[in-house]
Amino acid sequence: RHAARVAGWSGPGRTGDGVEVAILANVADGSSARAATDHPVEGVGLFRTELAFLERAEEPSVDEQAGIYREVLDAFDGRKVVIRTLDAGSDKPLRFVTHPDEANPALGVRGDRIALAHPEIRARQLDAIARAALEADAQPWVMAPMIASPAEAATFAAQVRERGLVAGVMIEVPAAAILAPAILAEVDFVSIGTNDLTQYTMAADRMSAELASLTDPWQPAVLHLVATVARAGRDQGKPVGVCGEAAADPHLACVLVGLGVTSLSSAPVAAPAVGARLGAVTLATCENAAAAALAATDPAAARAAVAAVLDSDE
Ligand code: PEP
Ligand code: MG
Repeated sequence: RHAARVAGWSGPGRTGDGVEVAILANVADGSSARAATDHPVEGVGLFRTELAFLERAEEPSVDEQAGIYREVLDAFDGRKVVIRTLDAGSDKPLRFVTHPDEANPALGVRGDRIALAHPEIRARQLDAIARAALEADAQPWVMAPMIASPAEAATFAAQVRERGLVAGVMIEVPAAAILAPAILAEVDFVSIGTNDLTQYTMAADRMSAELASLTDPWQPAVLHLVATVARAGRDQGKPVGVCGEAAADPHLACVLVGLGVTSLSSAPVAAPAVGARLGAVTLATCENAAAAALAATDPAAARAAVAAVLDSDE
């Protein structure tokens, strides 16, 4: 019964009682963006721009970058596109940015922190995004990865707004989740990166197969941080998305919506299952599922409690 609904689901994302929750795609370039349009997604919730930079001997020019960004904007012609600025450094080193060997790369000069020593790289990337937006006649949202403080969010937002663009940040460092009210006050929206938020909350490398039970996004500690961010978003009337792979898990997606998350972005193949599951439950059921997950003390208990709540509303 459920399988048939999944196959037939064609969007847009909403709960069974009509609360809209945009279901979006994570993409990396023009070709993955064009491929994503074959799936029932309403836009792009995370455009990982680093692909254009990695493995390069030199920084791509503003022109070249604008062309790459434009391809994604054109693929989604007029629909929502959230562009993330460069998330490289450390374990994803840039050959044209020299930095010392770091003992703890995941805690090092990565993501938005590259702009500390190289503000011109971020400035040129924002120029390229603004140019692509103008040429495509689009209004992309622009967000920074690995933001850890309200001051970092404010600096980034000022540079984005100078170029007439909508400014946001990713919440993937626990400090940023804890201070979500102050961070949201600086920006127009936030998007929670549950992959890194889980890694940093649980102090467990997201690439470690041995630590997979710790890097499980069903960890209630992580969900409590998501709840903090979503509550701040609701209080300030600003969108709070999730763009980590947690958004690809249909039951966890219902929990995220129950916590107050307003959009879900993941690998586009996940959209039909997530959309169908969400459409089968009411917002009140999602809220009950969220409460059950927050009351659990480990991922297995959270999964079981949420399954019981969701199945009772089928
Ligand atoms: C995340 O950390 O959840 C995220 C979406 O960013 P990335 O997976 O690119 O680090
Ligand atoms: Mg991340």
